[in-house]
Amino acid sequence: MNEENIKKIKEYSKQTELYKSRRLFDDEDVLIEKKCVVCKKFKKTNEFRKDKKELDGFYNKCKACN
Ligand SMILES: [Zn+2]
Repeated sequence: MNEENIKKIKEYSKQTELYKSRRLFDDEDVLIEKKCVVCKKFKKTNEFRKDKKELDGFYNKCKACN
């Protein structure tokens, strides 16, 4: 798969309800909070470790649960 296709898939994935329902964005579409998959709480992005493999750049588990 070439890089252009990977980019398209990533952009598409960010439009899904599942993706959006687990995250809070500000007016400029900057991620401010996301839902931890373990404790199910919304937390600020600084409560999550960074992970380049994730679409939004953060782990799905917060630091407290990791
Ligand atoms: Zn958690």
